[in-house]
Amino acid sequence: MTNNNHYDVIIIGTGAGGGTLAYKLAPSGKRVLLLERGDYVPREKDNWSTRAVNLEGKYNTKEAWRDSDGKDLHPHTNYYVGGNTKFYGAALFRLRQEDFGEIRHHGGMSPAWPISYDELEPYYTEAEHLYQVHGTRGEDPTEPWASAPYKYPAVSHEQRIQHLHDDLERAGLKPFHVPLGIRINENNPQKSPCIRCNTCDGHPCLIGAKSDSQTICVDPALQHENVSLITNAKVMRLETNGNAREVSKVIVERNGAREEYSGDIVVVSCGAVNSAALLLRSANDSHPNGLANGSDVVGRHYMGHINSVLMALSKCPNPTVFQKTLAINDFYFGSKEWDYPMGHISFVGKLDADTLKAGAPAIAPGWTLDLMARHSLDFWLTSEDLPDPNNRVTVDRDGQIRVSYKLNNVEGHDRLQAQLRKAMKQTNCDVHGHECHQGLFARNLFLGQQLPLAAVAHQNGTVRFGEDPKTSALDRNCRAHEVDNLYVVDASFFPSSGAVNPALTIMANALRVGDHLLERMR
Ligand SMILES: Cc1cc2nc3c(=O)[nH]c(=O)nc-3n(C[C@H](O)[C@H](O)[C@H](O)COP(=O)(O)OP(=O)(O)OC[C@H]3O[C@@H](n4cnc5c(N)ncnc54)[C@H](O)[C@@H]3O)c2cc1C
Ligand code: SF4
Repeated sequence: MTNNNHYDVIIIGTGAGGGTLAYKLAPSGKRVLLLERGDYVPREKDNWSTRAVNLEGKYNTKEAWRDSDGKDLHPHTNYYVGGNTKFYGAALFRLRQEDFGEIRHHGGMSPAWPISYDELEPYYTEAEHLYQVHGTRGEDPTEPWASAPYKYPAVSHEQRIQHLHDDLERAGLKPFHVPLGIRINENNPQKSPCIRCNTCDGHPCLIGAKSDSQTICVDPALQHENVSLITNAKVMRLETNGNAREVSKVIVERNGAREEYSGDIVVVSCGAVNSAALLLRSANDSHPNGLANGSDVVGRHYMGHINSVLMALSKCPNPTVFQKTLAINDFYFGSKEWDYPMGHISFVGKLDADTLKAGAPAIAPGWTLDLMARHSLDFWLTSEDLPDPNNRVTVDRDGQIRVSYKLNNVEGHDRLQAQLRKAMKQTNCDVHGHECHQGLFARNLFLGQQLPLAAVAHQNGTVRFGEDPKTSALDRNCRAHEVDNLYVVDASFFPSSGAVNPALTIMANALRVGDHLLERMR
């Protein structure tokens, strides 16, 4: 008797990890099932409304988690086909080659990965080509070696950003073009899918021109008749078979009813918080600490980067439409004066008054929110937070997710901010000279909440991979050490987080794991 609910591969979650893996496996002819708790992002004008997206949080999950004190935490995360890539800024960076080794930080050690950069490199190239990354090699002073050029030219700077670029260069820095997954053709604007708008970062693309995991991977994968997707299917639990070495059932709640599926291979890719929670919820007599958790690392080492948004106000306006084209990595590994990593500087999408209202920034004296937004350059600073076993995801008795997190390694981030302040003081304009720059103001971007912990956009590290089953949950192929047919391919597998945006590394790794699975199933 055939079982219609049995598949060769079940992938849970359709974001950067799960969606990319589905794309890789689709041509194999294997029966692949995608289970996604969310639906498609509705296509509507609100996709591009900063009020709806940033102020009202229309597309955020309404689910509440808890912080370490048991207080409600409203995470800024999105449950849809394509996962958080529907909303991301599409800055698609490779980790640096050094990030794969041990690095000494001011706040402690960043551990080595079980694979080298060279092993992941072919998959970085594959992911960049798949996601149509636009960039230029040779500008970023810390970029790792690459086996191929970008296929598409870098997205150009608008005038204000080009001016800043020139000022920063004069100040001795090496600003460079951000590698971006937006499908823009600047040579032929009439034919360009992307229209270069001011509502990209944090917003879904109303016209499908952003390289997100739905448009690039899930939709094409579904063209193969061996691939299917069930939406609004929240996986509640994984059950193991008699010898406890295999996942035998995937338990789903859909429209209030329970459904069961099974797969020769089961891949969890729910995002770092939800994947850990799913494994912990799947505890049974043979796996009392949760599935794949004999090491007790599942849920631990939560990382999310140290992120801040700094608005640089100047007397001159900033009329830039799409400002996320410039980045600075001069301080990624340190500076002459300070021998520890500081991090990465780039931009967020252009802020406007509605978005600023959501973050309730301190208003600069003599300015209104609207005026601030019209005159600001809006920087995004990222530094590495270190994997601390006490920073962890747990599941409370009532099933609710708890994220306990204490920020670490902040000195480098403070110094990064100081470096930006210093660099901005040296900027200039024809009208106001050095007096043009008025200062930098911090705000918590995107958040209506007071809790910075709610900014879980870069969540990673909770189901780490490694060689040693005592200190990691997954092996180098992202297979659970203790469960033969269980894999995890979202950001959970990171043993350290580096200081660039994580999505390209998740995509590249999913392609790598995809090759392993194709080999295994052959
Ligand atoms: C506003 C914003 C801007 C960002 N900008 C950038 C950027 O510019 N560059 C960059 O590199 N990164 C960026 N990121 C981060 C990037 O989007 C994430 O790192 C990436 O999407 C994580 O991929 P993932 O596969 O780990 O998880 P996700 O993409 O979050 O996918 C997880 C999927 O699993 C589903 N799911 C969860 N639980 C279950 C369950 N129990 N059952 C079934 N399905 C489930 C979710 O609905 C979701 O679809 C940004 C994120 C945000 C929110
Ligand atoms: S049109 Fe271009 S800039 Fe605007 S949201 Fe889409 S991909 Fe981003």
